[in-house]
Amino acid sequence: MLSKIAPLMASFPCSRVRRQPFLLPNMRKNWLGKNFLYGFGTLVLRPIKALQGGIYSFGVTQFLCNISTASSLQIELVPCLQDNYAYLLHDVDTGTVGVVDPSEAVSVINALERRNQNLTYILNTHHHYDHTGGNMELKERYGAKVIGSIKDQDRIPGIDIALKDGETWMFAGHQVLVMETPGHTRGHVSFYFPRSGAVFSGDTLFSLSCGKLFEGNPEQMLSSLRKLMALPDDTNIYCGHEYTASNSKFALSIEPNNKELQQYVAHVAHLRSKKLPTIPTTLKREKKCNPFLRTSSSEIRKNLKIPASASDSHALGVIRQAKDNF
Ligand SMILES: [Zn+2]
Repeated sequence: MLSKIAPLMASFPCSRVRRQPFLLPNMRKNWLGKNFLYGFGTLVLRPIKALQGGIYSFGVTQFLCNISTASSLQIELVPCLQDNYAYLLHDVDTGTVGVVDPSEAVSVINALERRNQNLTYILNTHHHYDHTGGNMELKERYGAKVIGSIKDQDRIPGIDIALKDGETWMFAGHQVLVMETPGHTRGHVSFYFPRSGAVFSGDTLFSLSCGKLFEGNPEQMLSSLRKLMALPDDTNIYCGHEYTASNSKFALSIEPNNKELQQYVAHVAHLRSKKLPTIPTTLKREKKCNPFLRTSSSEIRKNLKIPASASDSHALGVIRQAKDNF
């Protein structure tokens, strides 16, 4: 596998960093590998020097670079603020670069400067400040266009292109399907890149949890999560926050006998002990482990005293309330 990806590395933007790349340990490859090995793509981590100014406030001292030869789209995690992730999107064929949910400008600018890249697009999943805080500075500096939901056109700073549910927008030749996923906020959208098998789920779907219901109800969140669950199982989920370790404690507390969950929680602890990101996760794994996608689990229902006859949306509401009070 190394030999197959070696030629790619020469032209890979992160090859500007001085230290050598390393492959993830087997354990991680087993968790993530199937998707990235698909079409002989693979996942490579490259540690880099911490940037001046110490922006890595939540312990992730690496950027992640995904190389998938199945698509010309590269995705790089950019840790921001306390526990947010912005994502740089780079189309290798055209050199077009976009960013998803820039919480702050400085981290994104540093990443772009290191790669000597310009920024063409800013994609926002929702209007919250920790997802749009960098919009105006980035827009001013690079002339980037801001893309978001038409329902949030009055509260996404600098929005230029307002999109509707089900609309397809093109990012440098990559189809991007706009999926309305309300519940956390009423205008929340997720961006699905079918050719790359990636969805940017913002604060709707996290690894092992979902977003708080600030502007929505359990029915809306359930419907949004079901939309995401209808995507292919090997879809990689890029969410807005590194919350997985904390989410895992609640998930285990209400479904302690779930073997897949036990294994994943151990894996998450391993990654975090090495200060590695747990993102992306996969839909397949979340279906097996995430309590908010498992509203029909008899163990969860028993532990939270949800009657077997209760609807899935009622169950989701109870699970959300229990998590809010956890
Ligand atoms: Zn939010």
